[in-house]
Amino acid sequence: MAVLVLIEHDNQEINAASLNTITAASQIGGELHALVLGDGVSSVAEKAAAIAGVDKVLTGENAAFAHALAENIAPAVVAIAGDYTHILGNATTQGKNIMPRIAALLDVMQLSEISAVKSDEVFERLIYAGNAIVEVRSNDPKKVITVRATKFDSAPASGGSAEIVSITAGIAAGSDSGLSQFVEAKLADNAGPELATASIVVSGGRGMGSKENYFGQLTPLAEKLNAALGASRAAVDSGFCPNDHQVGQTGKVIAPDLYIAIGISGAIQHQAGMKDSKVIVAINNDPDAPIFQIADYGLVADLNEAIPALVFALS
Ligand code: FAD
Repeated sequence: MAVLVLIEHDNQEINAASLNTITAASQIGGELHALVLGDGVSSVAEKAAAIAGVDKVLTGENAAFAHALAENIAPAVVAIAGDYTHILGNATTQGKNIMPRIAALLDVMQLSEISAVKSDEVFERLIYAGNAIVEVRSNDPKKVITVRATKFDSAPASGGSAEIVSITAGIAAGSDSGLSQFVEAKLADNAGPELATASIVVSGGRGMGSKENYFGQLTPLAEKLNAALGASRAAVDSGFCPNDHQVGQTGKVIAPDLYIAIGISGAIQHQAGMKDSKVIVAINNDPDAPIFQIADYGLVADLNEAIPALVFALS
């Protein structure tokens, strides 16, 4: 049995979620290989080789892989799939784009967003916005799996010394499928840490009242704590902030060390994105708000008084 992990990267750095996926892969057992496809990715391959638990790193270089287009990456993975029983990727935007295409090309079903490994055939995943856990078994000869990062610890980024093997020659032919073309990447110009990986998140809900109040109150607090800004869907739908701030079932699923929910009631769809946070703090003027049921620390207060007081206390 050999397990392959498709490493997500930007041709320079490895996406932190790949470290969680490597932990999931190591729990399946067998030899663990990491696949780095890209353009000019020798430093990414070296970083992958240093991850504890990785036995071998395969690298494939081609201009067609530079922007991780699913239409080009998936056939390259399928070209080497014969050597593997399990192929794992992140349940991130990029992974959700590439992995189903791999599954379709291999004519197997995908096991999506697993939250635990029970055996090499049985996995757990969350359903009903995280309120129930379902155990799924796949009898497919090859298992294509995406991994929910927040459910697995990160593999140590150092300590490994895997050999690096180039597979560029083997997969070069037909690397550009011609089915899609990279046009442009528009990156959000957010100051501060990224929401998906920040260790502290300050999140605002409908209770913030307005866009001006959302940014005016939360930005100074986030700056004091070196935190990323998050939001409920109600805050996003009300136009307080962009939708890449949304945390929850239909937003980002995160598990920071500290999550501060301000003016957020704590609907199950919101909880689905943050309830694995290590410490949850809630500020809400309604003592019966459901968020207090999962909060480690709760403050029943008007946010317009509590946030300035917090910022002052942190000064
Ligand atoms: P509300 O529920 O309106 O709560 C606002 C809170 O602010 C209240 O508790 C109130 O007491 C408090 N408040 C008001 N004024 C103040 C003040 N001055 N000081 C202190 N507190 C104050 N939601 C998400 O968040 N993420 C998702 O991904 C998501 N996906 C969904 C998917 C589906 C299919 C559906 C049906 C819903 C989804 N929702 C999601 C929406 C979710 O059900 C809730 O409607 C939403 O989370 C509510 O956001 P909120 O807590 O900001 O607003």
